[in-house]
Amino acid sequence: MLNERYGQTFTVSHKEGYFVISLEGTDKSVRIGPLIPSFYDMSRDLSCGMWESEKEGYPWAKSLTKMPTPGMGVVNYPLVQRENETFTVDYDLLGFAFWMMCRVEEIDTKELDAFDRFSHLSSHAFKHNYLERPLVDEWFELLRLVINDCWRGVPLKQPEFKMEVSHDVDRPRRIGPHKWSFLAVLKSVRTIAVDLLVRRDPSVLTRRIFVLNPTEIETTDPYNTFDWIMTQSESKGLVSTFYFLSGMTNFSKDSGYSIEHRAIRRLIRRIKKRGHRVGLHPSFNSFRQPDQIKKETARLLSVLHDEGLEAESIGARMHYLRWEQPLTMELLESSGLKHDASMTYAEKPGFRCGTCFDYIAYNPVSHKMLGLRIKPLIAMEASIIDYHKISKQQAEIAQKELLLLKGACRSVGGTFSLLWHNSELIREEHREIYKAVLVG
Ligand SMILES: [Zn+2]
Repeated sequence: MLNERYGQTFTVSHKEGYFVISLEGTDKSVRIGPLIPSFYDMSRDLSCGMWESEKEGYPWAKSLTKMPTPGMGVVNYPLVQRENETFTVDYDLLGFAFWMMCRVEEIDTKELDAFDRFSHLSSHAFKHNYLERPLVDEWFELLRLVINDCWRGVPLKQPEFKMEVSHDVDRPRRIGPHKWSFLAVLKSVRTIAVDLLVRRDPSVLTRRIFVLNPTEIETTDPYNTFDWIMTQSESKGLVSTFYFLSGMTNFSKDSGYSIEHRAIRRLIRRIKKRGHRVGLHPSFNSFRQPDQIKKETARLLSVLHDEGLEAESIGARMHYLRWEQPLTMELLESSGLKHDASMTYAEKPGFRCGTCFDYIAYNPVSHKMLGLRIKPLIAMEASIIDYHKISKQQAEIAQKELLLLKGACRSVGGTFSLLWHNSELIREEHREIYKAVLVG
């Protein structure tokens, strides 16, 4: 991870309770520690102190802000000391990175929400007020400064900020169904009933007729925002990723469209033709079902093959962000998926893994490196915006919050990854926020 981040081949060894970073051909080293046992024995209840840069005395420390020290209740100053050619950082920041990025606190937890998800309310980051900071990355920035001081003249890779946008296709069209299965027809009947009885909008009936022969999602369908999304991305030099559902494991929570349906195939072709990406959105109960994600991956891949489209490097985002650590990432890896982009909290945006850099998944229980990359998700529109009532003031607050998160990613040269559902870009207010966040 150090080598990926700094672009140099450092060696990390373990000596007298410290990590020792060294570089071949030099006698210098940076020691980090002592190691904090709670990071490695699957603890959840960690203390947390605060390192205050102004107390440090080091000239470069001024460029950093106060930083929480999870796992270390009391900070000894100076945190960074130098003795001849050896620098010592008196905080196990590598242990913290391991604990946070491997989501150790989620393993075997009983604190789950109504959808069996680990909630931000239970997280150490939320309780200690650092969920909205890429704290792991901030500590790596401190380490970068120490490494710069230790090996002067050795160039380190400078990270470059970027933005990624993605869209979970839960509902490709308001009007269904996309396949003539009994369940899908039932879903459609329910939608029609809601439109007529609750929304009291008879005009939908004419659009409903369309379901008898759907070959294309009609352009007047409010959820058909795909071209608008792609145009926005293209104008900002971005590539959108659309995650499609290809299985149904829960009638009311999964959508019931068929990935093989010709209207969906056409949509996928259009997305790929315009240079955007397609990924898998594993269904509601798949996160802990052996073989289900594998089946769903195979269905998506077979559609891509049939259409003659490139099917390498497919990644996933779990529907409803359901996740069991470390089981779900093992299931994703064994399905041949190359990345996961689920890691944020459903109810609160921020840095669930403490970082906005993608990284190789590691199973902290089996101590195995996986062939899967974790691409942390920083914000999902649903956790910030109330769909039903949006005032000008609320829109401003939402936009500001998203831009603050984007700024936090920019400050460490990471990636601001934003999820915005295609079905939630109907209102002009939402489109305005979306556009402002792409530019900001
Ligand atoms: Zn979803």
